[in-house]
Amino acid sequence: MAATSSSSGSGSILDVADEELSYGALLGRGLDMGVLMAEYLVRTGPDGVRAMARAVNLATAQDDDFELVETLGAYEHLKSAVGAKQSELACTLGDVVAADRIGRGVRVKNPQWGVGAEVGLALHASQRSGTRFLNRARILTEDLPCTRQGLREGTINSEEAKLIVREVRRLKPVNRRDIDRMLFCETHTCFGQGGAKLREMIRQWALILEPEAEVDLEERAMRERHVEVFQVDPCRVRITGMFPLEYGAALCQVMAREIGRAQAAGDPRTQGQIAADFFFESLTGIGDHTNIPVEVSLVMTDRTLYQGHPEPAVIPGYGYISAARARELFAGNPDNPLDSWVRRLYTAPGTGDLVAMDSKARLFSGGLKRFITLRDRYCRTPYCNGKIEHLDHVVQVSRGGPSTAENAGGRCRRCNAAKEAPDWEEHTVPGDRHTIRITTSSGHPYTSTAPPLPGTRQYNVRPINPADRPPRRE
Ligand SMILES: [Zn+2]
Repeated sequence: MAATSSSSGSGSILDVADEELSYGALLGRGLDMGVLMAEYLVRTGPDGVRAMARAVNLATAQDDDFELVETLGAYEHLKSAVGAKQSELACTLGDVVAADRIGRGVRVKNPQWGVGAEVGLALHASQRSGTRFLNRARILTEDLPCTRQGLREGTINSEEAKLIVREVRRLKPVNRRDIDRMLFCETHTCFGQGGAKLREMIRQWALILEPEAEVDLEERAMRERHVEVFQVDPCRVRITGMFPLEYGAALCQVMAREIGRAQAAGDPRTQGQIAADFFFESLTGIGDHTNIPVEVSLVMTDRTLYQGHPEPAVIPGYGYISAARARELFAGNPDNPLDSWVRRLYTAPGTGDLVAMDSKARLFSGGLKRFITLRDRYCRTPYCNGKIEHLDHVVQVSRGGPSTAENAGGRCRRCNAAKEAPDWEEHTVPGDRHTIRITTSSGHPYTSTAPPLPGTRQYNVRPINPADRPPRRE
């Protein structure tokens, strides 16, 4: 190109007055816009990619239905190409970091330590998701050339690529490559028929090529058995689990037998209620559901407790409950007042920072872990919602960090390990609420502030008086 400035001053290549530089003239000269934009991206790096995102936001849609559908599909192609590019970048990052550390003689046994965490933070995801992304990217880039090309060309989208990687990841690289090749020889039969059929086809080929992989899968099912509890709303939790097939079958049989026995005896409960009660009783040994001995850590303000204020309270690890329910819990069971023991915690007015437990003496006589768990509630790494498994020194003891609440952060096991990557720095920052400043190995800064607790200004809201509500539309 002879020049890059626009003579019209409008900033749009479409309005350039100079015939030589107009959009039409450039296309007429056979200029490939893809090549032009690629050159722009190479020269400008991340700034150029952000400019492309702005361009996508600024581009107005046409009002022709055919064009609209075409544009929708074209953006899906763009997403696929971006997915392939991100995989490539994550792998290159791993290689660059490893080469640098081996060159410097640090972390040579596992030179990619912490790269998954760095990838996760860049993608606004947890470290676990970042590591998974990196592992998928490795398989895609090294063992599945056709899938990667299909993603770049928009033949398949990111979801299909993810499915392929998931199905072949336990196979040997040579078999991954065979399946990759077969999928794209039969593109018309493999793609466009839905994920279930694609998965079935890959599994069928995997069983022929590497039947022993199924044995590995059985072992994994046993190794990875687990049960998890999630809060779904202020009053309920969902309990999910993953079991080997034979465990699952046995559980179903026992549950069905129990339901049948109760119904035959004229039990008025629904099948679901019988199963839920049986599950609870079997695990806890408690038959009377109205009298459950619990210790609840309840974080609430004095206004909520004594003045009937509507500000919600928090049960750490589970979430918010209404002020009325918090008062009920605090009151406990009148028939057996010792059954329900509520630990009341204080929050600083305005900032919602947890300032102390019942007393300072208690805090420093072994209550520090409990204090940090209540203050942080989840792992403090940005985007990680992991459970707190480790009480971490923000500035490590080896660097002179003290064992105080200020220098402590709740962390999940993975994030606590990731911060030991070379050049990864963390320190606390003074402010309203406890704040940690994280600088990753690549030098990217992130800030983590403890979540707000009752007492924070944002909770100074009043429910609308029913009389003030606008009339309902008919
Ligand atoms: Zn974490």
